[in-house]
Parts: sequence; C-alpha cells; structure tokens
Amino acid sequence: MATLVIATKNEGKAREYRAMFAPFGIEVKTLADFPEFEINENGQTFEENAKIKAQTAVDHLNLPVMADDSGLCVDALDGAPGVHSARYAGDHDDEANNAKLLRELADVEDDKRTAHFHTTIVAIKPDGAKLVTDGRVDGHILRSPRGENGFGYDPLFEPVEHPGLAMAELTAEQKNAISHRGRALRDFMDKFSGWWEA
Ligand code: IMP
Repeated sequence: MATLVIATKNEGKAREYRAMFAPFGIEVKTLADFPEFEINENGQTFEENAKIKAQTAVDHLNLPVMADDSGLCVDALDGAPGVHSARYAGDHDDEANNAKLLRELADVEDDKRTAHFHTTIVAIKPDGAKLVTDGRVDGHILRSPRGENGFGYDPLFEPVEHPGLAMAELTAEQKNAISHRGRALRDFMDKFSGWWEA
C-alpha cells in the first residue's frame, strides 16, 4: 500500500488524516512511526515552516510527506503572535498565551481588534513535487474568554461568520466549516489526486 507521512506526532491529527486518506487506499504514518530526527522550525512564515517540516522529513524518510503550520495574526500587533503562536507566553500554554494577548491589546479599541487565523499545508514527494494550500478565517479579538470548545486562542476569537460568538462556542462541525484549517484542507483534498498521481 502507498504511504503518506504526516509531519506530526499528534495522534488526534493522525486519526483524522487516516480517515481522510483511506478512500484513496493510502496508509497514513506519522513521525511517531520512525526513529526521531530533528526539525529546525525556524521559518519566518507559516509556509516556510510547513516546507521545512515536510522537506526535512522527506530527506530522512524518502517518502511523500504532508505538513501544516498555523497561527493567529493580530493586526494591531503587526501580525503577532503569528508563527510564534504556540509559544507566545509559554510552551503550548493556552491560558498564558491568551492572558498575554489580552494584556497586549488592553488599550486597543474594539474596531481595531481585527485578526485572522491562517493555515498553510505543504506536501512534498521525494521527486520534489509540491502541493501548497492556504486557508484563513477573519475575526475580532474579544475582551475576555468565552466557551469551552476547541483549543488555543479559540476562546478569544470572534469569527466574522458568527457575530457575538467565540470560536470556542462553536461545535466542531461549525468550526470546521469556517476555520483556516478546514478551508486549507478542503482546498488540499480538491487538488490532492493531481499531485499524488502525477
Ligand atoms: P499548529 O501549527 O497547528 O500547531 O498551531 C500553532 C498554534 O497556533 C497553536 O498552538 C495555537 O496556539 C494556535 N492555533 C492554531 N490553530 C488554532 C485554532 O484553530 N484555534 C486556536 N488556536 C489555534
């Protein structure tokens, strides 16, 4: 069976990708299935980081690899936290990250609190053929957290598609329909066969 490696160790992500690629008869593996190697994620953009992750894994494994990179970009903060979203205040500490974001925006008026989430997906084959897709969702940063769903900055992000609600108040289906990741993934799957079979 043909193999596609997802450049993650996150088993939750792996499960979702396995279901997506099963209809194509593709076996999905993750970095957890191989001996560890270092990935130097030092890009300045989401696309650079996704490319670094995918290309490093291709170089080590000689298999097709898919990687993604996401984050929150706040206009009043010149695009921060951006590629530093996971480690804005502490390493994958969502509560500390959200508290820092609220502090940084304390003096920013409601109409200036615009922001967007962005995802870039990059897939690379050993012959160098690449597939790159992006997705974004626009919204505003709230003044206090709301909702229990999702993760990361979801409690502080009010998407334009659902005025008055935080992303963390949406169901998984509602979030997926409008989210940066959902949009990038749908575009990726639309183009996948052309890249995989070329
Ligand atoms: P990753 O590249 O998908 O791991 O995302 C990096 C960081 O961006 C996460 O740790 C979160 O802080 C933030 N982020 C990415 N996607 C989302 C989302 O859908 N909701 C909230 N925060 C997100």
